[in-house]
Amino acid sequence: MPAPEEGDRLPTRFLRAWAGSRYIPAKVKSEVWARDDGRCAWRDADGTVCGSRDWIEYDHVRPFARGGRSDDARNLRLVCRQHNQAAALAAGFSAGPPPS
Ligand SMILES: [Zn+2]
Repeated sequence: MPAPEEGDRLPTRFLRAWAGSRYIPAKVKSEVWARDDGRCAWRDADGTVCGSRDWIEYDHVRPFARGGRSDDARNLRLVCRQHNQAAALAAGFSAGPPPS
């Protein structure tokens, strides 16, 4: 789907759905991968970068659920599984199964 142009008279609902897509275009993925060198880009409080290559996933710096974009490399980073969960917890999402 092409990006809506500025000034297009598209229903707001459609624009929201497009901007809020979790789908990360291949071009953006490869840009993020190259920038982060295929390693976890998580930065500890003391500034140490994790650098792990284990179970790398794409993470939204600004959470998707809060309007973060999937089509902008600046809003994406690579994180290892451990730090993806840490990021999710920090954003207020439970990493575990829902309470029964
Ligand atoms: Zn990590």
